Amino acid sequence: MTKKEYDAVVVGSGPNGLAAAITLQQAGLSVLVVEGKSTIGGGLRTEEVTLPGFKHDICSAIHPLAAGSPFFNTLPLADFGLEFIYPEVAAAHPFDVGPAAVLFQSIQKTAQTLGVDERAYEKLAGFLTKTWPKVAVDTLGPLTFPSHPLDFAPSAYGLYRRRPGLNIYSKERRLRDC
Ligand SMILES: Cc1cc2nc3c(=O)[nH]c(=O)nc-3n(C[C@H](O)[C@H](O)[C@H](O)COP(=O)(O)OP(=O)(O)OC[C@H]3O[C@@H](n4cnc5c(N)ncnc54)[C@H](O)[C@@H]3O)c2cc1C
Repeated sequence: MTKKEYDAVVVGSGPNGLAAAITLQQAGLSVLVVEGKSTIGGGLRTEEVTLPGFKHDICSAIHPLAAGSPFFNTLPLADFGLEFIYPEVAAAHPFDVGPAAVLFQSIQKTAQTLGVDERAYEKLAGFLTKTWPKVAVDTLGPLTFPSHPLDFAPSAYGLYRRRPGLNIYSKERRLRDC
């Protein structure tokens, strides 16, 4: 028999809706998740939209924030079949001229492709990687005063990126590529 009353109703089964529903359920509440589409997942849905067997991410596709999410990391998602895939080249960005910028798993390897910006990229990406465990909760959670303000401020507001010498794709490289 279908239950008619719930402590909470969550509308939408995207990652935020599911996280809210799980949190409420973990607190002992009964929860109903209402989803308007025929499948759950919201922006994280994967569907066969071309040929059978070819699965496409129909919205979001790159999930470092899922892998680095303090909340998701508390859940036994692997037990339910979740496996993050880490390709050698995580992302590439083509330009009108010259070679594409590529993002390798290794900060050093990526930095080595950036010419004059090698050190700047190593410093920026190294800082973000080192401080992420301390700033993850404040970055992904509700707005509050950060618990590690000195680590949080540069990553949250891009203070590092505002320094001209730290532009990943610097004026010098743009001129060189033209
Ligand atoms: C084109 C695009 C690309 C993106 N790429 C990335 C990426 O690569 N990596 C990344 O981390 N993020 C990416 N994002 C962002 C990510 O998809 C969203 O941050 C995330 O999906 C938000 O989750 P959510 O649960 O808030 O909402 P959604 O995922 O949008 O889920 C909302 C759900 O609510 C349902 N719904 C809405 N209204 C109702 C209603 N009235 N009744 C019933 N159901 C309802 C919808 O059908 C949907 O399933 C991308 C977003 C877009 C638009």
